[in-house]
Amino acid sequence: MSQGSNETTILVGEDYAFLREPVRRICQQFPGEYWRKLDKEAEYPSEFVKALTEHEYLGALIPEEYGGAGLPLRAGVVILETIHESGCNAAACHAQMYTMGTLLRHGSEEQKREYLPKIASGELRLQAFGVTEPTSGSDTLKLKTTAVRDGDHYVVNGQKIWTSRALYSDLMILLARTTPVDEVEKRSHGLSVFLVDLREARDNGLEIRPIETMINHNTTEIFFTDLRIPASSRIGEEGRGFRYILDGMNAERILLSGEALGDARYFLERAVEYAGDREVFGQPIGRNQGIAHPLARAWAQTEAADLMVRKAAGLFDAGEPCGAEANTAKLLSSEAAWLAGDTCFQTFGGFAFAREYDIERKWRECRLFQTAPISTNMVLNFIAQNVLGLPRSY
Ligand SMILES: Cc1cc2nc3c(=O)[nH]c(=O)nc-3n(C[C@H](O)[C@H](O)[C@H](O)COP(=O)(O)OP(=O)(O)OC[C@H]3O[C@@H](n4cnc5c(N)ncnc54)[C@H](O)[C@@H]3O)c2cc1C
Repeated sequence: MSQGSNETTILVGEDYAFLREPVRRICQQFPGEYWRKLDKEAEYPSEFVKALTEHEYLGALIPEEYGGAGLPLRAGVVILETIHESGCNAAACHAQMYTMGTLLRHGSEEQKREYLPKIASGELRLQAFGVTEPTSGSDTLKLKTTAVRDGDHYVVNGQKIWTSRALYSDLMILLARTTPVDEVEKRSHGLSVFLVDLREARDNGLEIRPIETMINHNTTEIFFTDLRIPASSRIGEEGRGFRYILDGMNAERILLSGEALGDARYFLERAVEYAGDREVFGQPIGRNQGIAHPLARAWAQTEAADLMVRKAAGLFDAGEPCGAEANTAKLLSSEAAWLAGDTCFQTFGGFAFAREYDIERKWRECRLFQTAPISTNMVLNFIAQNVLGLPRSY
């Protein structure tokens, strides 16, 4: 592996200005009050997703031959970062980008021709990613959902949890066990990936139930009872699905790091402006080092995280191994967002609690990055074992 090789360019500053400016303009049409209303009513941001789709941002990573813009992952990071920096939230539609890691890299030509142009145009939504299960949690290889071959079909039984956006998606990437764990050499073998058509599956063996959460994330649990899916919906070879999902997961971690960075920048901008304006004891509160230093620290951590996000995206786009960088990017950016959020909260004093300021909403939202798509401890486990070579603790 040639980490930091000459081919991997780490850019600084506002790269992809041709994406940042128009995305900012779209976001201006969706101010805080739009998100506050959705948050209150637990509604899906349909108009926002429609605007991004119409301007072809959700198809940014789909190759041009399949109707997309054919841009690299870094461009996707920039789009998501800009959305979050502008006070909006891309969670309603970001999966359309990261599921590409699995479908694009491992789907058959037939599957790509059938689905990608429709996903790029917005006719089909691929927003759901069904991996996590209630009993196995972070121990993905212990998942219990099974897909058993039956002629031209597979029969799926089991349960997924935290499958976000399933109610607003036409397709779902599903990870299920196709060979019992006691019949495989390694636990990572015998898992397969499927592209499930939710429109056909719903109420035909698949049930979706929403979960109420502290943020408006449209997340659900899914129950499979003898759901029959065509064998042709399998992505790649049977039994090799975990490897395919990992490609999608690295993309997901890098893209969502962009969102966390965007949140950090949003908090910093709001806090710095407020610290300059708000006068208490006859001077702007930002003159107090107790206010200024935490903001300076949050800025420094955000910039450091940004460099790692750029490095991870660069390696991914160069087709190089990037597990360590993708995980580290997620760790640093989620912590930078949380620090910036908490610092912003403190800077705003009591007003941070008032919903109309949007700080408390963004603060709640950015907490998720430390838990999903992978929790902080599991990132640290990955680094300890795979980078530092320490013994596995579990
Ligand atoms: C709002 C939301 C949306 C989500 N969307 C999706 C989605 O669309 N698709 C999907 O598949 N999943 C989704 N997830 C699931 C998410 O990826 C998991 O919640 C996350 O990976 C943690 O798994 P868990 O909740 O089962 O926690 P657990 O695995 O039960 O872990 C609980 C705690 O114990 C720690 N822990 C566990 N094992 C170890 C260990 N060996 N060493 C140290 N610490 C350990 C964890 O780090 C964590 O802090 C979502 C979750 C949320 C909350």
